[in-house]
Order: sequence, then structure tokens, then C-alpha cells
Amino acid sequence: MELKSNHSVPVLTDPVPINNSRLGIPSNLLPHLPPAAAFSSGLYLTIPRKKPIPGKLDDVRASGYLDAMKSSSPPRNKLIKDFSNEVASSENDAAYNSWLMKYPSALTAFEKITNYAKGKQIALFLDYDGTLTPIVDDPDCAFISLSMRATVRSVAKYFPTAVISGRSRNKVYELVGVPELYYAGSHGMDIMVPVKHYMSVDGNTSYVRSTDQWDKEVNLFQPASEFLSMIDEVFRTLVEMTKEIKGAKVENHKFCASVHYRLVDEKDWTMVAQCVHDVLKNYPRLRLKHGRKVLDIRPVIDWDKGKAVEFLLESLGFSNCNGVLPIFIGDDTTDEDAFKVLREGNRGCGILVSSIPKESNALYSLRDPSEVMGFLNSLVRWKKSLAV
Ligand SMILES: [Mg+2]
Repeated sequence: MELKSNHSVPVLTDPVPINNSRLGIPSNLLPHLPPAAAFSSGLYLTIPRKKPIPGKLDDVRASGYLDAMKSSSPPRNKLIKDFSNEVASSENDAAYNSWLMKYPSALTAFEKITNYAKGKQIALFLDYDGTLTPIVDDPDCAFISLSMRATVRSVAKYFPTAVISGRSRNKVYELVGVPELYYAGSHGMDIMVPVKHYMSVDGNTSYVRSTDQWDKEVNLFQPASEFLSMIDEVFRTLVEMTKEIKGAKVENHKFCASVHYRLVDEKDWTMVAQCVHDVLKNYPRLRLKHGRKVLDIRPVIDWDKGKAVEFLLESLGFSNCNGVLPIFIGDDTTDEDAFKVLREGNRGCGILVSSIPKESNALYSLRDPSEVMGFLNSLVRWKKSLAV
């Protein structure tokens, strides 16, 4: 593996001046606005607003938000009650089985995967929502089951294991509740590495020494730290703007924010999209990414879950890929960045969790979190069998 060792704070991929135009946002929601003196000093630059193009709507339809919201939110399987639905179900099964030819089940391909791992250390990278827990309507209720927690604790005994989630690092740490793991929150923009495991990757890495919930010393790597107050500002603005939309839920993940619309009536999706669109127009250093019934707002930096995997591999001492087989298991679009990193150059295995066919950079698939648990338990059994 050829890992780049320059993991200092990444550069902006699309540098643009800071915008001070926040029209229409109540001033009490903008506690971090700079004083007028700073504007006149030139520290804050204003981007001229684009003139409206005649005949072209500057709204969510024109920007494609709604289309993306619909296409990134496939309906979950419903109970089959009548004959016509049974026909549709068997067609779906046929489509899924044909998709499995391209993305074989990691359970049926288990021997092949462990053959790759012979003489190597497996390093596990796990997403949280939709991977370790089923997707639920309220993200606050996505609790890990006791059996999944035991499984994760068990794999961590045998393999270096990290959870990389879009949630805030503290939140996902609290939800998983297994101190032996490595945790990365905010789509990999907030990485925690236990001090005892830490190996220096280069002399420029911007670590912050801290302690975790159990008072253990840890190193934090936060490549988007300069966006902390901006994300907080956007979060509070969006809470205010969406408070009248029934079912909309805004979350602050520290270095990114998200707007969930799973519980919003589809006729109101336009309003959700319009709120996010209107806010983002004023923050050119933030961008939107579509997840499963969620709009993720993230800093424009060259950092994602793929970069986080590379960074963690280096921190674990696997800067030479010959001795390691990284396996990343995830279900969402943000996990594709990690799948891609592992796929390129045959560095490792991406496993997509999905009950419906979809294109992916992953090599293998698992249908749902219960199959993820089965796969992880199989890895533990395989590892134990090697020691006998
Ligand atoms: Mg997920």
C-alpha cells in the first residue's frame, strides 16, 4: 500500500472567500458574526450575489435537490399482503439475486476473504447506522443491540477495529459503548486514537491531546477544526428555519450537520430542501451530500471516510499494506469513499450493507445488520480456529 504520509490539515479543494451575506436569517442566530470593523478591514470578503437568470428558477427544483432526495431514499421493503405484491416481491428477489452475482455475499464468500487474509492482520472499519443497527425513523433511537455490542467487543479482541460514522464522535462512542475501539465521527473528520496505540505518521500531524469518556488519554485529529463555529451557526439557523416542518430533525455532528426528512411528509420535502438550499447559498465553504433520507452539510475539504481509513491504517502502524487486509463495512453513500480507497490497488475489501440492488465501489455485500453480525462472528471463529 502506498499511503501518503502528509496528513496535516488538508487544503480546501475549492477555496473561496468567506461570505458575509446572510440575508433573511434572524440576527440572534448569528452569534459568531464578526464585527463591522473586521468587514471594513478586508478580513471578510463579500461575494457578489449572482443575478437571477430570466426563466430559470433559483430553487431546489433547478438545483436538483428534490431529485437527489428521492433517488437517494429508496423505500424500505414493506410486508407482502396480496398476490400482486407477491409477484413484485419475487421480481425483487430475482433482481437481488442477480445483483449478488456482481456483489457476492460476504457470508458465502467468507472463505475467499479469509484466504486473502492469510498471513495478514485484518483491520476492521465499521459504519454505525444501517450497519451495526437497523435504520430507524428517529436517529436518536438507533440503539445497538446487546448481542451486536458483544460481537463488536469480541472482534475488537482479535482485530484492530474502528467505527467511522457521520454522527459526532462522542455520540457514536456513547452509542457503541466499547472503549477498546477507535472512533471517528463527522464522516472521519474527528478521529480519536488511543495514546498507547498511537504511532507517529509524520511530523506535521495536528493532534490534540485529550481524554475520552472513561478518562483515558487519547489523541484527536480534527482536519476541519476551523469549521466548528460555522457548523454550529448553520445548525442553529436550520433548527430555526425548519421548526415549522413537521418531522424535520436537524442534528449537530460537530464538524458537519444533517437534516433528516425520514419523518417528513413527502409533500413537504420541497420545504426542507429549500431551507437547506437557502442556507448553503450563504456558506460557499460548505457543501451538501445526500444520504438515506438525510441531507448532510459538510466543509469543503479534501477529507472523507476514505482518507480517514488511510489515516487510521497509518496510525495503527500499517503504512506498508502487505501486512494488512482492511475490511470496511457500511451502507451509505459516504462509505463509498472508503470502498473506493480499498478497491483501488486491491488494498482491501469493501462490503456494502444493502437489501436492494445498487451500484457500489464495494466488492462484497451483506443484506442487513443481522448478516453483519453473522459475518463478524464468523471472523472471530475463524481467528480462534487458527490459534488451535
Ligand atoms: Mg450508515
